[in-house]
Amino acid sequence: MDVHCTTCGEPWDIYHLRHDAIFETDLSHAEAKAWTELSPKIKLLDRYRGKFREIGYEFGNSILNVIRCPACPKDAQPDPDKAALKATIVEILGDDEDGIAATMEDHGL
Ligand SMILES: [Zn+2]
Repeated sequence: MDVHCTTCGEPWDIYHLRHDAIFETDLSHAEAKAWTELSPKIKLLDRYRGKFREIGYEFGNSILNVIRCPACPKDAQPDPDKAALKATIVEILGDDEDGIAATMEDHGL
């Protein structure tokens, strides 16, 4: 299953976002592995957001809500309508990442 970047529309495999992308940051292997076990909200603490930002990812209220990604053109801006819709989906579904992914895919988000 894929979700799409709010800014450039690039598809991202949800397994990659949940399990692999963290290993591209400069966190130690042990810390990156530990991160994959954290609850969805803890995964997005400022420390981790900063690490992801360094490699080009910016997330909304879920790791599956990709606002910007490494494929984004430098000056591109997020689509505000998509950003609002995605934020709402995550708010409604909370920590249910499978539900979030399925809903976003249904809507082509
Ligand atoms: Zn992008």
